Amino acid sequence: MKLIEMKNPIVEMDGDEMTRVMWQMIKDELLSPFVSLCTEYYDLGLQHRDETDDRVTVEAARATKVHRVAVKCATITPNAQRVEEYSLKKMWSSPNATIRATLDGTVFRTPILTPRIRPYIPGWTRPITIARHAYGDVYKAVEYRVPGKGKAELVFTDEHGTETFRRTVYEYEGPGVLQGMHNKDSSIRSFARACCNYALLLGQDLWFSTKDTISKQYDQIFKFIFQEVYETEFADRFRQAGISYFYTLIDDAVARAVRSEGGFVWACKNYDGDVMSDMVSTAYGSLAMMSSVLVSPDGCYEYEAAHGTITRHYYRYLKGERTSSNPMATIFAWSGALRKRGQLDGTPELCAFADKLEQACLDTIGDGIMTGDLAILCGDDVRTVTTADMLTAIRAKLTALLA
Ligand code: NAP
Ligand code: MG
Repeated sequence: MKLIEMKNPIVEMDGDEMTRVMWQMIKDELLSPFVSLCTEYYDLGLQHRDETDDRVTVEAARATKVHRVAVKCATITPNAQRVEEYSLKKMWSSPNATIRATLDGTVFRTPILTPRIRPYIPGWTRPITIARHAYGDVYKAVEYRVPGKGKAELVFTDEHGTETFRRTVYEYEGPGVLQGMHNKDSSIRSFARACCNYALLLGQDLWFSTKDTISKQYDQIFKFIFQEVYETEFADRFRQAGISYFYTLIDDAVARAVRSEGGFVWACKNYDGDVMSDMVSTAYGSLAMMSSVLVSPDGCYEYEAAHGTITRHYYRYLKGERTSSNPMATIFAWSGALRKRGQLDGTPELCAFADKLEQACLDTIGDGIMTGDLAILCGDDVRTVTTADMLTAIRAKLTALLA
């Protein structure tokens, strides 16, 4: 079979543990036999991050700004236990956080749907994409454990040193807790832009929700900035695409989402997105079926699976056991990156390959061949296979689709 050519490279970020093992298997079985893969390879495996004092992560993020398309394997975010396990020089920060900060990006998570797997909410026949604003709020808050009686105030001093605002938050009559958090117009604006662009790309409605009835300054500003970005930059294009922008209160959005059939992009504030993305992925079936893409305001795309490195399976794999880790979200990260590369380069063969690769995956599950995590959701009449056997089955389908 003649290999499909690529005009420009994809930034390839390798990772850790079970997903690193799957990464190689996916390339060997499903990509290299069909595509003349052109990637710029960065090894984000924890050992190599440690050897390079984490420079490799920064280089990979910068390369993504140059080539505009990246695909990333799941990576370990080190904690104290990992520092010991890998004898690390220090507790390096999360690669995802580093990449997100470099690209100033927004993460969109979309479930991979197949008719075999019934969502816990039966009405959800189309995917809901959660967009999470990954800056500020409670994640960058200053907190204080109030020891006893006293007064807490909110004070703002401008750049010239003049105090322009002071208000009592609370006069404590005893111990309590206190928190101060912030956000920035520029970050909210980038987020709004990224969400509008992504809704256009998918051709789906955009929802945005906050609690502006209660938070009359903080959340209200989020609402205003979104509305302004939408009206001044996107309203015409939304009309042409036949999609709409819809703002509602977070509690109303939750109620409407549950009653909906899906098929929209839901922009969430940082904390709401954290909670809702776990709720949505579980309701659609499995974390192993959640794809994820980081989109920067200037149009760079980094594709990955939403799940982690599946440590528990990896330890079993190291003992020589055959594992049944689900490769779907990692395959869809590759297909997403290849399709985007094809779109940017004007190489429709590459886009068609990405479509067929996804089709082959869905057809395989449609035939009842699946990994253990999905088999328990589907009940009888399915064949539980190892990761390797799953990839072999997908390859057979793919070969037939490409013939
Ligand atoms: P995880 O790797 O997502 O796995 C948690 C559990 O979910 C697994 O033990 C497994 O359950 C199930 N699971 C997840 N993905 C699966 C798949 N593809 N196929 C089958 N089952 C799957 O989360 P974790 O164990 O909390 O984290 C492990 C490491 O990943 C950590 O070091 C963390 O820092 C890192 N992490 C990285 C990213 C990222 O790079 N984007 C994201 C999250 C976590 P069973 O064991 O019950 O089968
Ligand atoms: Mg969460």
